[in-house]
Amino acid sequence: MSELPARVRIREVGPRDGFQNEPEVIPTAEKIRLIELLGATGLSRIEVTSFVRADVIPQLADAEEVLSTASLPGSVSVSVLVPNERGLERALQFRERFEEINGFLSASETHNEKNVGRSVAESLAGLRRTFERARADGLRCEGVISTSFGCPYEGPVPVDRVLDIACALADAGAVEVGFGDTTGMANPLQVRDFFAVAHERLPGVELTAHFHNTRGQGLANVLAALEAGIDSFESSFGELGGCPVPAGATGNIATEDLVSMLHEMGIATGVDLEALLGASRAAQEVLGRPLGSHLILAGPVEWQRS
Ligand code: ZN
Repeated sequence: MSELPARVRIREVGPRDGFQNEPEVIPTAEKIRLIELLGATGLSRIEVTSFVRADVIPQLADAEEVLSTASLPGSVSVSVLVPNERGLERALQFRERFEEINGFLSASETHNEKNVGRSVAESLAGLRRTFERARADGLRCEGVISTSFGCPYEGPVPVDRVLDIACALADAGAVEVGFGDTTGMANPLQVRDFFAVAHERLPGVELTAHFHNTRGQGLANVLAALEAGIDSFESSFGELGGCPVPAGATGNIATEDLVSMLHEMGIATGVDLEALLGASRAAQEVLGRPLGSHLILAGPVEWQRS
C-alpha cells in the first residue's frame, strides 16, 4: 500500500449535483442560504449551480440568481457546470462571480445520448469550443466523465475508452479531469487499478474522483483512490444528489462522511466538520425529510468534537 496523501481537496457539488436531482424545487433563497453555510465551513471548492436548459432541469432554472447572489469567502473557488457554449454564455454574464467551469459528458454512448442527446464525439467537440471560450476569459476548466466505472445501459466501460476521452479533454484545455461513478458501479479494486493507469496516461493533469454511494461502496472507493495517489474528490453535503438517468441512481458520497473518515485517518481537508454538519442539517430541514449521510445521524466520533 502506497503512502496516503497528507491533505486532500474536496469540491462540494451538492448545490448542483444535489439540488438538481431532488424531486422538490428548492426555493432560491433557501439554496443561497445553504450555499453560504457551505462557504463558511472551510470548503475551498464549491460548485454552486449548472447552466442547463430550464425546461430540461427546472430545479436549476434560477442559476443566474444563485450565482449572482450567493456570497462566498474569497478563499472559495466557485465553479459552475456548463453543458455547452450556450450555458457558458449565460454564466459569463456574471464572470466576476466564479473561477472554474466544469464541462461534462459520459464515457458510454448510450448514457450520453440519454443524458444530453448527443454522441460522445459531438459532446467532445462542443466542450472543446466551450473550454476555448472559457480559457480566453481566464476560467479554469475541469472536464467530468460520467459512467467512468460502468454504464447502467452498456455495462463495463473499457478503461482505455475513458482515458482516451480524458486525454481529449486535457488536450482541449482541461487542467482537471473528474471521473464519475455516476450510478455507483465502481468497486475498490477497479478504482485502484483505474487510477494507476490514469496517472500514467495523464501526467500533470489533476485527477479527481467523483463517487456515488448508490450501492454503499462510496467510501471504500475513496480509500482505494487514496491508495492510488488521488488527492482530489467531489462529494455532496447530506449525500444529496444522483443522476437524471436512470431512475434510482442515488446520491454522491456525503461530504461529511468523507471529511470524517479522512480526519480520522489523519488526512487534512481544511473543513470544519461541525459547521458542515450544520449545513447538512439545514438542508434536511429545507427538504423536510431525512437525508442519507451517516454523520447526520451518528455525529462525529467523540475526539473530533470541539
Ligand atoms: Zn454525481
